[in-house]
Amino acid sequence: MKIHISDNLRAVPQSILPWFERNQRDLPWRHNHDPYRILLSEIMLQQTQVAVVIPFFHRFINVFPTVSTLADAPLQQVLALWQGMGYYRRARNLHACAQAVMQHHNGAIPDTVNDLLSLPGIGRYTAGAIASIAFGRQDAAVDGNVGRVLARLLALRKPTDAELWKVAGQLVPANRPGDYNAAMMELGAIVCTPKSPKCQTCPLQQVCLSHERGLENKIPAPKAATKQPLVSAITVIATSNDRWLLEQRPASGRWGGMWQFPTVERDGRIPRSWRIESLLNLPGGESVQRLGKVTHLLTHRRYEFEAYLAAGVPELSTPLQRWVDADNLPNFGMPRPQQKMLQMAQQRLAAIANES
Ligand code: SF4
Repeated sequence: MKIHISDNLRAVPQSILPWFERNQRDLPWRHNHDPYRILLSEIMLQQTQVAVVIPFFHRFINVFPTVSTLADAPLQQVLALWQGMGYYRRARNLHACAQAVMQHHNGAIPDTVNDLLSLPGIGRYTAGAIASIAFGRQDAAVDGNVGRVLARLLALRKPTDAELWKVAGQLVPANRPGDYNAAMMELGAIVCTPKSPKCQTCPLQQVCLSHERGLENKIPAPKAATKQPLVSAITVIATSNDRWLLEQRPASGRWGGMWQFPTVERDGRIPRSWRIESLLNLPGGESVQRLGKVTHLLTHRRYEFEAYLAAGVPELSTPLQRWVDADNLPNFGMPRPQQKMLQMAQQRLAAIANES
């Protein structure tokens, strides 16, 4: 589809930049244009909200103030620091990205979209954001927020990604492209929100076709809901003398390289026979009490963990498992559902201790 960009729309940068200067949030990665800080923030923001990212960003910058300190760190330390933000593939990619910058770019984050795209974990949006914000290059950056603003400005009900990138590329100005991209993201985050956009305070109200036609709540058209397939899991939390049995997940795939309580997973619901068999195969599983269920939603999967507690069991383990002192647990990056199950186990143990 050919999309016409009116002269009015070409004035979007002039309208949005003064608004951005007055209204942008004070975010720690906006304090300077250090490419490392921009890269770190953009990777953290890929699937996590700003308010959640801020403390993690400070923590990372304190521990890894430069790309070389991050590249030199053990992956386990990076994963442990990332714990609580989810989508751990980003942490592994971030670490690999820092190492690639050291090995192939003499420690300097590349300044072109093409070179940035060659780094692990950097897609088209992140490359455009870094190139424009850190290096002042006239490149577009279309994330969910920017895409929604563009769709509404042009009253596009079901725009394709290609259409949105094309429009974005035509609007990004030569002067202050990074501020412009950041302004569009900010507008999408705080004014042109998914529900009930605040058109009365919007600096683009005069040129917005959706607003002119009263369509701002209908554009973009909602996507058909898809139900993620279910993965069921049985987890046995084996503990003895305040030591806990952990095992490491395989290096690749979901939660790759992270630590968990011994767990078995299967696609679909758990038949009774599989539950009994699985429990007997997990350490301490023959003498367990049920803790409850933990559900966890990911973009492409729904997880249901059935958690069991096996307290006071012999400290046996396989080569991939390790008994860890309670004090040392924070050094082992664990996925969020495993952390929840740890809390459940600790609460149950405290209740048992109170009763006796
Ligand atoms: Fe979004 Fe409303 Fe602004 Fe249009 S006028 S860009 S719909 S907030």
